[in-house]
Amino acid sequence: MTHKPHALVTGGSRGIGAAICKTLAAAGHPILLNYRSRDEAAEAVRAEIEAAGGQCRLLKFDVVDRPATLEALAQLEAEGVHVGVLVNNAGIAKDESFPAMSYEAWTSVTRLTLDGFFNVTQPLVMPMVRKRWGRIINVASVSGVIGNRGQVNYSAAKAGLIGATKALAQEVAKRGVTVNAVAPGLVETDMIEGAPVDLILKAIPMRRMGTVAEVASLVGWLAGEDAGYVTGQAIVMSGGLG
Ligand code: NAP
Repeated sequence: MTHKPHALVTGGSRGIGAAICKTLAAAGHPILLNYRSRDEAAEAVRAEIEAAGGQCRLLKFDVVDRPATLEALAQLEAEGVHVGVLVNNAGIAKDESFPAMSYEAWTSVTRLTLDGFFNVTQPLVMPMVRKRWGRIINVASVSGVIGNRGQVNYSAAKAGLIGATKALAQEVAKRGVTVNAVAPGLVETDMIEGAPVDLILKAIPMRRMGTVAEVASLVGWLAGEDAGYVTGQAIVMSGGLG
């Protein structure tokens, strides 16, 4: 493929998503950077990508808001913009021990992860199938593989996302579309603010956090031609945890 297809990255304004945007832009994909609220953070990522010679367009919508998501995706379609690479990265954690967990902590985390996946992915699948090429990469978590105390909501949501990954991969494999998940362990971003990092590090065989660049590099590989025979996988990147 000489011209790389557009890559849509949800939650691309900060942390892991921002690193994924920069990696995919450096690989030649025009970036569609989705975010929900922090305009300055999104603008900063766009500026960095453009300064490096890449292309980046900001798409501000909440992936849980189905009408807003469908409207943004319909607008792309109307403009003839084809999304060949989709990275479902937007996510939140609201950790609470299960007996104390609020219904809001349960619904907000599961809805962002699962409804967000559905709202963004479903409209984009058939166009990929028609082109006989596509890459869908879901950012899950090692918590969705091994479970984690204080994260019943988050572990359930990410395990659900991994299940969706495996099922969708089977539906579209014959059409040249791959669907994979990456399942990072502890990665240094805003999301882990307030987490008991020293305690968690003791459980990580490598005794360090992962970097956003490490996760983005794996996503970049999954988005490329070399990963064409890999589908339906949840690749754990956690310094040996799990
Ligand atoms: P982060 O630094 O908190 O960034 C979250 C990003 O998601 C921001 O760009 C935010 O945009 C966006 N976002 C949040 N809610 C959204 C919504 N409803 N619609 C659209 N965008 C939304 O998080 P991160 O640590 O990079 O995490 C990225 C992904 O990696 C998540 O799925 C997370 O579960 C997963 N993960 C993280 C870790 C870790 O240790 N950090 C480990 C394993 C997996 P705004 O700022 O504009 O709201």
